[in-house]
Amino acid sequence: MLRVESLVKSFGGFKAVNGANLQVRAGEIVAVIGPNGAGKTTLFHLITGHLTPDSGRILFKGREIAGLAPHRICRKGITRSFQVVNIFPRLTVFENVQIAVLSRERKTFRIFSPVEGMAAEEVDRILSNVGLLEKRDVESDLLSHGDQKVLEIAVALGGNPELLILDEPTAGMAPEETERCIRLIRKLSEESGLTILFCEHDIGLVFEIANRIMVMVRGGTVIQGGREEVRRNREVQNAYLGESGAC
Ligand code: ADP
Ligand code: MG
Repeated sequence: MLRVESLVKSFGGFKAVNGANLQVRAGEIVAVIGPNGAGKTTLFHLITGHLTPDSGRILFKGREIAGLAPHRICRKGITRSFQVVNIFPRLTVFENVQIAVLSRERKTFRIFSPVEGMAAEEVDRILSNVGLLEKRDVESDLLSHGDQKVLEIAVALGGNPELLILDEPTAGMAPEETERCIRLIRKLSEESGLTILFCEHDIGLVFEIANRIMVMVRGGTVIQGGREEVRRNREVQNAYLGESGAC
């Protein structure tokens, strides 16, 4: 579904992404791990069109997407959540997801036509899917941090993606919120057949839910493989897993 080859992105003279390679097959849950500053967020910005690569290729279902505008990449079937919560705080939970659904359908809000009911069925289905239906009329900035992160996933689902990209979906979450988020990611994969690419600093969580793992260090790909292959890799142990002490 997604193939990233020899991707490079510099800021000034600094190569934040420096020869990254990544493959995501349809239906997989793939994790990108690596120390802070390894280039994970930059890699995701490149895939979703928020940044343009200096060189390398990004193929989505066999077609080059590098350098396309974010809305065009979104229409092709890739949507994402951000590391920092990125929702409209003064709008309700329902309205945040509704905007995503309507903008996908290229319907705009018009001053003189009622919008309350538009796409309501689909929005409610998404909210029910992620477990936020009971909070549909709550103003988003009143939600807990965990609920806001889940709402962001719901907003991404409003784009009806084939590939969902999540940048540190559990960042800042309390343990029980993290547990709920893991269950949600699994459910989206199993029940909706969604392909999911995420990055995460919690290694335990990564080894729990990812089918395959890509390890990124200093902008480059050290290895991409199954859980056991990655766990056994000496370079990974030295460069990353040993450091964190998590494995
Ligand atoms: P990660 O998500 O793995 O923690 P990032 O992709 O956020 O890493 O950052 C990789 C490196 O690129 C970091 O050293 C960061 O400071 C740098 N960087 C990221 N974005 C920019 C930018 N817009 N301008 C300059 N440097 C940046
Ligand atoms: Mg990051």
